[in-house]
Amino acid sequence: MRVVFERPRTLIKKPFTYCPGCHHGLAQRLIAEVIDELDIGAVTIGVGPIGCSVYIYEFLNVDFVVGGHGRAQAVATGIKRALPDRVVFSYQGDGDIGAIGTAEAIHVANRGELITSFFINNAVFGMTGGQMAPTTLLGQKTKTSPLGRDAKVHGFPLRLAEMLKVAEGSAYIARVALTQPHLIKQARECIKKAFLAQIEKKGFSLVEILSPCPTNWGMTPEDAVKWLEEKMIPYFQLGEIKVKEGDFNGAS
Ligand code: SF4
Repeated sequence: MRVVFERPRTLIKKPFTYCPGCHHGLAQRLIAEVIDELDIGAVTIGVGPIGCSVYIYEFLNVDFVVGGHGRAQAVATGIKRALPDRVVFSYQGDGDIGAIGTAEAIHVANRGELITSFFINNAVFGMTGGQMAPTTLLGQKTKTSPLGRDAKVHGFPLRLAEMLKVAEGSAYIARVALTQPHLIKQARECIKKAFLAQIEKKGFSLVEILSPCPTNWGMTPEDAVKWLEEKMIPYFQLGEIKVKEGDFNGAS
């Protein structure tokens, strides 16, 4: 019998503990599928952040280290430089990579560190209770912007992926969502290309994954998906943002 669907080897056999409707589990499953497909599980090291994203180490059967808040990419850089034959990735939320870790994000991209980052953007700080994040949309109400984000007071939502596009050392940058089957398929392809950019030594790679946080958005899982599609995607447009050919030195 031909197997058409099975649990990825890299996904540990236990139920996800994320809130109902959260897409962390889906994102982590896709990463596990790609690790299996590329057969890199034995050489992969993940770096977790602080925040809901950190629990990835409970679910993926690869080596893991956890960095301080915002420092996952700095830790990943150290690991990759010490162990260049390993495939190293960080998995971070927007509060981690886009607020406290902004400096790390810009500099790893600019230096072209051969690491891959997965960036879960749910437009709030999740684990700490729904405070405004750099990615919070204008008008979006959060615990710390109860009247809605106001550009005059809080600035504009950060498009980190577009910022990192201009960094010379970034090789592959994409933004995806997991709200529809065809988008999940595209996301899996982008995750694969991001790992390949590292393996083929093209430079830094990042996949931003738009994800609902029904708990802190105060919505049902269904309404959260709708809100993501109607409000987040028009601002955080999906697609491949940068695909650099050739190796790190620009040679094709
Ligand atoms: S708080 Fe939000 S990001 Fe964290 S697990 Fe729950 S839904 Fe997901």
